[in-house]
Amino acid sequence: MVIKKNKDEFLSYLEDTSNLKGDASLLFIPENEKEVSDVLLQAAEEEIPLTISAAGTGTTGARVPLEGAVLSLENLNRIKELDKKKSTIVAEAGVTLERIEEEANKQGLTLRSQPTEPLAFIGGVVSTCASGPRSFKYGSIRNYVKRIKMAMTNGDIWEIERGSIFARKRKFKFSINGREYKFNLPTYHMPSVKSSAGYFVDDDMDLIDLFIGQEGTLSCILEVELLLHKRPYNLFDGIVFFDAEEKALEFVERIKQLRLHSFQYPCVVEFFDFNSLEFLRPFYSFIPSAQCAIYFEQEIDSEQQADLMLDYWYEFIEKSGASIDKCWFAETEAERQKLYQFRHHLPQAVNEYLRKYSQTKEATDIAVPDDKFHSMYYFYKEVALRSRINYVNFGHIGQNHLHFNFLPQNREESFLAKGYIMEFIEKAIALGGTISAEHGIGKIKKPYLEIMYGRKHLEEMAELKKILDPACILGLDNIFDRKLLKK
Ligand SMILES: Cc1cc2nc3c(=O)[nH]c(=O)nc-3n(C[C@H](O)[C@H](O)[C@H](O)COP(=O)(O)OP(=O)(O)OC[C@H]3O[C@@H](n4cnc5c(N)ncnc54)[C@H](O)[C@@H]3O)c2cc1C
Repeated sequence: MVIKKNKDEFLSYLEDTSNLKGDASLLFIPENEKEVSDVLLQAAEEEIPLTISAAGTGTTGARVPLEGAVLSLENLNRIKELDKKKSTIVAEAGVTLERIEEEANKQGLTLRSQPTEPLAFIGGVVSTCASGPRSFKYGSIRNYVKRIKMAMTNGDIWEIERGSIFARKRKFKFSINGREYKFNLPTYHMPSVKSSAGYFVDDDMDLIDLFIGQEGTLSCILEVELLLHKRPYNLFDGIVFFDAEEKALEFVERIKQLRLHSFQYPCVVEFFDFNSLEFLRPFYSFIPSAQCAIYFEQEIDSEQQADLMLDYWYEFIEKSGASIDKCWFAETEAERQKLYQFRHHLPQAVNEYLRKYSQTKEATDIAVPDDKFHSMYYFYKEVALRSRINYVNFGHIGQNHLHFNFLPQNREESFLAKGYIMEFIEKAIALGGTISAEHGIGKIKKPYLEIMYGRKHLEEMAELKKILDPACILGLDNIFDRKLLKK
């Protein structure tokens, strides 16, 4: 195992893409499960706060330590098994999504739910319950996790298979490795939208779901077994540019109504507002003049379907009032890669911009119910106008889930942006939405979670953590404040 004690040698582990800067005095990079387990046990015995680190692509400071030690899973990076018949893959926590997809593709398979960032580790993805553009059709990574192997702070290794341990209403009672566990789950109700805000809880829930979205606070994920699916015959991608926002919003509404006719139902529906297009224009001078754009991706199951699909989308787009001549379409892998790069460029460019101005991320990860989206959308616009701060608004419009990003250039703008973000949060909660649809809470969004669920429910989360991490060393200050653990 690599152990580093000189902070200058591991500064990059003290941050993530939120630009929050942390501190720690030790870095452990274990080579295998036993070494991970030993680090957890030793840290628990010596009460050393331990922050688990994956690829650091998180946007909420979740992997940023505030003190103590960092445990990096980067060397647990083996793909242990790929079973084509069962369509499953077993990957250690430090395997990147990119590698999982590459290996799956070699067998004609694919992982249906992946966040946009291919360098994220599967341990980080499961721990944040990430979901990507395809979650419009396929949901979050939660839907594809079959089994998790984890190291606990008491030195035990747990393996939980989906479907093996369930709660009775909000109570768990089970035994693992000869130890009995009996505890109550928090009593809050999760909003009925895509959400990764706080621990996943539900009546009669599967135990495995508690560890998906835990943000490194309950256990250290060692290995994950994922469900794969047959790779589609082909994909058809398009970007439709609109000269009026209303037309784009209507276009999305019509897509949502396609649910019943599933073969045309796209897996990706993404939005770029006017500012996003302008932000990208220096890199893509050929972007047509437009008020906004919708990016969609459609799976194709056969050659025959490919022709049908093309005609279908042409007609669908023309009915929306957008000009086909202005659209970008991709039917081949090379064309698709170009569109993919275009889509992926935006969050990366935002992160680079913030780094350039040394500002932290002031962005939303809000999702609201279908019938409340218009209200939320126009509220974004109203506040943005008032703020006079640069911004871009883009993302997963199919799930009423946009990433509104302020682009502050100095501390004053950053300070003001925080206030405006709070207005968005309050509005989203009032509309029955979530404050985090996919990025999690980490350290940056804790105050918002308290507004969403209230202090009592945060205390219930802290009580739950104390059962599974009795030494209270893992992922401190993620999701809720560490002072709640003292009560
Ligand atoms: C350009 C860009 C695009 C993105 N697009 C998306 C998107 O489409 N959808 C989305 O959901 N997110 C997206 N993200 C956010 C980010 O990629 C995800 O949150 C991802 O899941 C983080 O993975 P990571 O490996 O970088 O984890 P890290 O940032 O290193 O860690 C995240 C959290 O997981 C915990 N953790 C890590 N490994 C383990 C483990 N083995 N056991 C227990 N806990 C662990 C950490 O302690 C921390 O709390 C994007 C980020 C960027 C920069």
